[in-house]
Amino acid sequence: MEKTIAAISTASGNGGIGIIRLSGRQTFEIIKKIFVPKNKNNSIKGYTIKYGYIVNPTNNEVIDEVLVSYFVSPKSYTTEDMCEINSHGGMIVEKRILELCLQNGADLAEPGEFTKRAFLNGRIDLSQAEGIIDLINSRTDMEAKESINQLEGNLSKKIKEIEKEMLDITVNIEVTIDYPEYDVEEVTNDNALKSLNKIENLLEELELSFNKGKIIRDGIKTVIVGKPNAGKSSLLNALLKEDRAIVSDIAGTTRDTIEEYLNVDGIPIKLIDTAGIRDTENKIEKIGVEKSKKLIDSADLIIAIFDISEKFDSDDMEILKLIEDKKAIIVLNKIDIKNENSDFETRLSGLNKPIIKISAKEQIGFNNLYNEIKNMFELNEISNNNEVLITNERHKNQIIKAKNHINEAINTIKNNMPVDIISIYINEAMQDLGEITGENVSENIINEIFSKFCLGK
Ligand code: GDP
Repeated sequence: MEKTIAAISTASGNGGIGIIRLSGRQTFEIIKKIFVPKNKNNSIKGYTIKYGYIVNPTNNEVIDEVLVSYFVSPKSYTTEDMCEINSHGGMIVEKRILELCLQNGADLAEPGEFTKRAFLNGRIDLSQAEGIIDLINSRTDMEAKESINQLEGNLSKKIKEIEKEMLDITVNIEVTIDYPEYDVEEVTNDNALKSLNKIENLLEELELSFNKGKIIRDGIKTVIVGKPNAGKSSLLNALLKEDRAIVSDIAGTTRDTIEEYLNVDGIPIKLIDTAGIRDTENKIEKIGVEKSKKLIDSADLIIAIFDISEKFDSDDMEILKLIEDKKAIIVLNKIDIKNENSDFETRLSGLNKPIIKISAKEQIGFNNLYNEIKNMFELNEISNNNEVLITNERHKNQIIKAKNHINEAINTIKNNMPVDIISIYINEAMQDLGEITGENVSENIINEIFSKFCLGK
């Protein structure tokens, strides 16, 4: 019989409540042994909660006062019978309740095993399960939203549509092969070519969406450049202050740069070389133009900041040269200082880059800056359209494989090879996509995916 599993599902440490989860056929049996409800009514109904005490059946010791939620198969997270014991938070209590579950017939769940069961039992597919991991690990609103999108099955739906197109072509080809006397091969080839081109485009669109997806996931790699005293650290500090939660300080061990992940106005930003900025000396001079170039080349976005209370000079020119062909925003800082002679705007007007005026000191103009970033990376569209984005490297690789197979199918037709060979390539492409949703995926890949989950999920 399939094991009944148990685990602590809340984060370790002291909290308001802790949740111990059970899933499997023996769930209600085990609960009956260790839980004494206040109300002696023994009936079990799904989506109900009972109040009572967890009691060690061997010595009648009361472990905790709890609420137990019941989920009756198939209406549960795993589709199996499930219970969630809501205990008082705290490591000792949670651990003792878990131990009681284990002593009374449950096995300790592996990381991700609850979700793995939901997948194996057919409630969710693999890409939805991966959406759950991403949701848990989300660092910004936007990333969470995209994960929910995937969790709801929007990626799977899109993949299924493409698979359906592929299937239609192979069915048509089968007909041609089965009834050669009708001599429909030419027509079939024409139609197949049209469909294959359409499929190739759809796959390409998905593949390209990875770039946007990657930005949502990893943040917009941003470098702030500017002369000494232009206001780089003031801007940096203002951005840091806006951030509701700095999630990580990633100290680059191999490179001498520091990256900071920010969530500014819902925009995921990964600032590069904040250490260099905090250095008050001229970064560009100090680290050399070569290194600045490298930083700038590796960035998704450059914020070039200028002090418009000063006159435009050759150093400013140098900076403009560095960002010439790059995705960059020009920020004119210190607009709170009146400078009638400023020639910045005329100097910069022909550059074809967005110009935003701010005062880092007085915190003026920041919303314009955020909106410009959202525009540049089409972030508003993402939140409005529920567009399907690929955020997962594994998915992207499968899509590229499928696209290559479709390409081979197209070449086969163009080279007038026998139609049954087209079928072979299309089948391969369908297999490739099937690995995204998990229809045909090896045990190893499944295990690897679920091992990334936390315990109790
Ligand atoms: P960095 O060398 O580029 O990092 O420049 P800082 O951020 O250290 O700023 C240099 C000087 O300019 C500091 O004295 C700041 O207080 C001042 N400063 C920065 N932004 C503004 C601003 O918007 N208005 C005014 N009036 N001063 C500013």
